[in-house]
Amino acid sequence: MSTARRDPFPALADQPLLRVNELVKHFPVKGGLFGRTSGSVRAVDGVSFELAKGETLGLVGESGCGKSTTGRCILRLIEPTSGEVWFEGRNVVGLGREAMRALCRDMQIIFQDPYASLDPRMTVGAIVGEALVIHNLTKTETQYRERIVELLETVGLHADHLRRYPHEFSGGQRQRIGIARALAVSPKLIVCDEPVSALDVSIQAQVINLLEDLQQKFDLTYLFIAHDLSVVEHISDRVAVMYLGRIVEIAPARELYTTPRHPYTEALLSAVPIPEPGLKRTRIRLVGDVPNPINPPSGCHFHPRCPKVMERCKTESPAFRQVSGGHWAACHLNDSAGLT
Ligand code: SF4
Repeated sequence: MSTARRDPFPALADQPLLRVNELVKHFPVKGGLFGRTSGSVRAVDGVSFELAKGETLGLVGESGCGKSTTGRCILRLIEPTSGEVWFEGRNVVGLGREAMRALCRDMQIIFQDPYASLDPRMTVGAIVGEALVIHNLTKTETQYRERIVELLETVGLHADHLRRYPHEFSGGQRQRIGIARALAVSPKLIVCDEPVSALDVSIQAQVINLLEDLQQKFDLTYLFIAHDLSVVEHISDRVAVMYLGRIVEIAPARELYTTPRHPYTEALLSAVPIPEPGLKRTRIRLVGDVPNPINPPSGCHFHPRCPKVMERCKTESPAFRQVSGGHWAACHLNDSAGLT
């Protein structure tokens, strides 16, 4: 029996916290004199994965591959075109406003840009406390203030920061404010949308360490989005690699870094520095840019840039195939390696 299929659900848990099933988001492209729809950007084109409670899944790919759109569709910040998002056994897609508002307590997001995601006119206390008010989580003024102080201290800030404004903080501190804001409602799942991309490398490590500590402390589940495999290496239990709106490989983190089964993952990995002095990877430089998602290439979408392209890749779309345990990849090179 062939195991090739498009929806990889590695057996992680009987009841995953999150199950994304064939998620699609197409943005219409308007053009011409009358602004008619002339096509669509296939930003997310059939993405499926599961996330177990307490797990971190790294979601990696170049700019424009659809990873942030996937994260936003899960939280319904963007309405998906089709597909299902099951959170604790409930399909989030199609939930009414009230039900969705209640669910916002369980699912939060940390944004990429700590400069743009905080309202400059609000004090840090008001930013962190906003969700406490919306969800009516504290009963008295004293409780409200104490909870904000507790949240600030949890992310490594101080009580006296609550009266200050975002512009008074460094990039790393602003991202800590964003994390405190997400924690205010005691969520179960946090979509970390490139939370360290805008920060200096030295600060990146501090924020990632903080996120790891918070995960332990509060039993959090992360979907950790990044464009760089080196960022997600240590925080992820599993890693999914996206290309042109689709997941092309998903595997336990260690396995993906040691034995990648997709040429695109190999190319991304070749850019990850090895910490041991004297050891260097041979850099695989991909030719050309990411193709236009309005009109993706035929066959394997990666074929115009693939260093291992074969004739059949130009016409045949590769099946998403299980290559071992929880390791799946979409590449014809794995056809003979599929589990039976
Ligand atoms: Fe490269 Fe072909 Fe594999 Fe696509 S299917 S990644 S073009 S070898």
